Amino acid sequence: MSVQFDTIVATATAAGPAAIAVVRVSGPEAAEIAGRVLFAGRTGPNMTFPVAESHRLLYGRAVSPTTGDLIDEVMVAWMAAPRSFTTEDMVEISCHGGDIAAAAIVRALIAAGGRPAEPGEFTYRAFVHGRVGLTEAEAVLQVVSAHSADGLQRALADLQGDLAQRIVPARAAVIMALAYLDASADFPDDEIPTANIAADLALAATQLESVLAGARTGRLLSEGATVALLGRPNVGKSSLLNALLRSDRAIVTPIAGTTRDVVSERAMLDGIPILLLDTAGIAASTDPIELAGIERSRSALQHAVGLVLVIDGSEPLAQDDLSLAEEISARFDAGGLGEIPLVIALNKADRPLQADLAELWAMLPSTVGVVSVSALTGAGLDQLAGAIGAVLRQGSDPVARPALLSERQYGELDRALLLVRGAQEALAAGFPTDLLATDVRLAARAIGRVTGEDIDDAVLSEIFSRFCIGK
Ligand code: GDP
Repeated sequence: MSVQFDTIVATATAAGPAAIAVVRVSGPEAAEIAGRVLFAGRTGPNMTFPVAESHRLLYGRAVSPTTGDLIDEVMVAWMAAPRSFTTEDMVEISCHGGDIAAAAIVRALIAAGGRPAEPGEFTYRAFVHGRVGLTEAEAVLQVVSAHSADGLQRALADLQGDLAQRIVPARAAVIMALAYLDASADFPDDEIPTANIAADLALAATQLESVLAGARTGRLLSEGATVALLGRPNVGKSSLLNALLRSDRAIVTPIAGTTRDVVSERAMLDGIPILLLDTAGIAASTDPIELAGIERSRSALQHAVGLVLVIDGSEPLAQDDLSLAEEISARFDAGGLGEIPLVIALNKADRPLQADLAELWAMLPSTVGVVSVSALTGAGLDQLAGAIGAVLRQGSDPVARPALLSERQYGELDRALLLVRGAQEALAAGFPTDLLATDVRLAARAIGRVTGEDIDDAVLSEIFSRFCIGK
């Protein structure tokens, strides 16, 4: 990432067919470079921006500076520094969509002296010029990649500085604790009240816990989760997938073993964007193709965040149902997780109930919810969606305000919390204060790498390189 402020150029809109595309120019020479390519009106002279009024839309033409050929008719917004996204002089050119016009304008601007922007470079400039904080800059990334309305709302709140407001007090408390610890190391004879240190550490821990608890909810709402429908053949997994999607994506036939591969579809269930996997029925089989499908189903069983065990309620439980329940419980026993993110869908509720679930409870915790449903009539579908939503929300604190944290931000804050907790224990156990100071200092740095106070260039380039070009 270059830190010299030359003038950068990029298409800001996504590729592909669209009504309009937007090309951005930002930097000290934005006006001159754009002026070499842009002409006023249908027949007018080169546009001269410092003269033109800022923040108004102008009609004109983009013309190749090398051949003089007309490229496109355009609308041009001139935004004089510092009232622009990057705080630099900026020109935004709206041209016809599709890939041709915007690309030709970018080429013309480069021929006129601009440089192609690197991914995230516009936002990077907004950050280094102090226009946005680091948490806000990362929120820009979340906004452009949000998958749901809720996720977008969270990202927008972070863009307004919400996340920073919640983390800054934690950092302040940690630094206060550090000040006391350093003071007691420097003046060992003076009595430094450990109660103050304990109170600051406790405040920091509470604050960090609340943000981290909200992060799970935030992630769920923005990125969603993978949920696998599992069951022996013919219990109605494909029918349930279709019913949940209200479409006909999976092939449904009365012949056992028709779904030989994993079918996946996106759906919005209970406000959560979900990737729903329909799996090949897991059963004892010798058919090699079926076995390959079963292998993939097992992988879905191991990796999906949420599981739905589909049982055919119109038949007595089969050995395959029980083996599957055992496999599911084995995954979670081994993982040592508290609650199993599992729902049992007792399908074919339009027929008389024949299945006796008693044997299932020998293998699964009795807290697992059962929903009677009929893929055929649609009865119980909303309850099933609600139960899936509920198991996915397990462990995320419903009271904590959702926060959107990137992997990196989550890692830093999680580490800070661990260090603060360690310091709390050491303090309670009466360890020498200089030993605590090291951990508390590391915690302050970890939080600082999220708020932007303690961040180095390598991490910055890492963050901004995940942006798309033109952002
Ligand atoms: P899969 O192998 O588990 O994916 O099962 P399918 O979705 O292919 O369904 C197997 C058979 O059960 C098909 O004949 C479906 O029409 C039937 N079926 C699925 N759901 C229901 C239901 O709720 N009620 C009834 N009566 N039949 C169902």
